[in-house]
Amino acid sequence: VNYQRILDDVAADVVPFIGKGNLARYIPPLTKVDPNQFGMALFLLDGRLFTVGDANVRFSIQSISKVFSLALASARVGDELWSRVGREPSGAPYNSLIQLEEERGKPRNPFINAGALVVVDVLSSHCPRSEEVVVELLRRLAQVDDIEIDVALAEAAREVSHRNFAIAHLLKDFGNLRNSVDNVIRNYCYQCSITMSCSELAAAAAFLAAGGIATNGGERILDSGQAKRVNALMAGCGTYDGAGDFAYRVGLPAKSGVGGGVLVVIPGLGTACAWSPTLDASGNSSAGVAALERFVKITGLSIY
Ligand code: GLU
Repeated sequence: VNYQRILDDVAADVVPFIGKGNLARYIPPLTKVDPNQFGMALFLLDGRLFTVGDANVRFSIQSISKVFSLALASARVGDELWSRVGREPSGAPYNSLIQLEEERGKPRNPFINAGALVVVDVLSSHCPRSEEVVVELLRRLAQVDDIEIDVALAEAAREVSHRNFAIAHLLKDFGNLRNSVDNVIRNYCYQCSITMSCSELAAAAAFLAAGGIATNGGERILDSGQAKRVNALMAGCGTYDGAGDFAYRVGLPAKSGVGGGVLVVIPGLGTACAWSPTLDASGNSSAGVAALERFVKITGLSIY
């Protein structure tokens, strides 16, 4: 298969979608990103990497970080995590408070903010600066030493985290947060502000396509059952309120972020990451989703 040719075709096809929709509005630095960027990377388990467009430009990974914090928490506490977080799509906005109140402080899944805050809390109990563990894992998996946190972005995000603070206080009130609200929000904002490129993210996620084993050096990150489950959660809950539509159009486990990245796992084969900063109504990258839809249409690489 000529994957380079396929990526080139995909990039040509998605031109009309680039710049469509809106930049994430609530974190000031994210509103200053050039909206007319697009990149895509495909990483295969044999180590080959194909790229097109701005695939090596770093962007804010935001909620895509939740995949890696979940992997770390699963590896650490295993099934215990599920006594504190559910595994169902929420059908509500990712930062909603209503469901959390109704369901007595047990978040629907680890990818909505409430669930991600509990995951950060689990990691923070083992390491007070939990985002550093996430960065270290990403550096190791992508084999890149200079993956960093954009501290200015993290501080700006913390400043406008009123809703996340509200969620964290509610979690605390229900007894589902062990660390202080301030510490968990801080670590969460720092973790979301890691910057990486499509190429780096695709390489970092390859263990999820390989039964939990990192492709470089063979480090076991998760057992194969846990890896399968992270993929299942991504498929059901990884693209906000658009998860059903994403399954319909693309049909791969995915996680998106408000920075415009969309990461997908192709079990047994590899990973792909598409990025373009402007978002559709569900908060998923317009051109990113269009690119993955086109890619799957050409290759037939869907899990369904
Ligand atoms: N920092 C963001 C928030 O929690 C993450 C949003 C996202 O990418 O979904 O508000």
